[in-house]
Amino acid sequence: MAGSPRVGVLALQGDVREHAALLAGLGAEVALVRRPEELATVDGLVIPGGESSVIDKLSRTFGMREPIRVAIAAGLPVYGTCAGLILLADEVLDGIDGQQSFGGMDIAVRRNAFGRQTESFEIDLQVPALGDAPVHATFIRAPIVERAGDRVEVLASLPDGRIVAVRQGALIGTSFHPEVEGETRFHVMLLESAREAAATR
Ligand code: GLN
Repeated sequence: MAGSPRVGVLALQGDVREHAALLAGLGAEVALVRRPEELATVDGLVIPGGESSVIDKLSRTFGMREPIRVAIAAGLPVYGTCAGLILLADEVLDGIDGQQSFGGMDIAVRRNAFGRQTESFEIDLQVPALGDAPVHATFIRAPIVERAGDRVEVLASLPDGRIVAVRQGALIGTSFHPEVEGETRFHVMLLESAREAAATR
C-alpha cells in the first residue's frame, strides 16, 4: 500500500506475532526485527510484552542494544507494551541482577508491581488522548510507572492514581497489553509518528 509506513516488531522474545498481525491489519508493512540491518529499515518499532530481562539479555547477545539506543536518541517512534515499557524506562526498579533497559523515557518503572501472585487482571481505562471510548486493558505481571519526568505526558492512570500509560515525544509506553483485546488505537498513534518519520527521511 502506497504511503504505508514500515514498522518493526522487536522479535527477540515475547508476544511478537500478535503485534505483527495487528500492525498488518492496520495496513502497515511489518518487519520482524532481530538484527541491526533490519532495525535500519523501519520507521517505527514495537517492543512487545514478554520478559524484559530476557529481551535485555538477548538484545546484547544479538548486538541490538546500542543500535536501538542510537535509534531512540535519533527520534525513532517506539511503542513499548509491558516488558517493552520497562525497556523504554530510564530507570528500572526491581529488575533482576544486572538488568538494563534501552531507556529514552524519563520514567522509573517497577517490574511486577502488582506482586507475583497477581498474574493478570482486566479493567476499562479512560485514555483522553484516544477519545471517549475506554480502553479495555489487560494487565499480565504488569509494571507500573512510579515516576514520570516533566517531559512525560501521562496518558492513563488506574482509579487509584498509579500511572499505566505514558508518552514522551515519539515514545509511547503502556503497562498493559492492548493487543489482547484487539485495541488498535495505541498502534495507530505509533503509525502516525512512523508516517511522519518516514516523510522526513
Ligand atoms: N513481568 C514481565 C517483565 O518483567 C513483564 C510481563 C509482560 O510483558 N507481560 O518483563
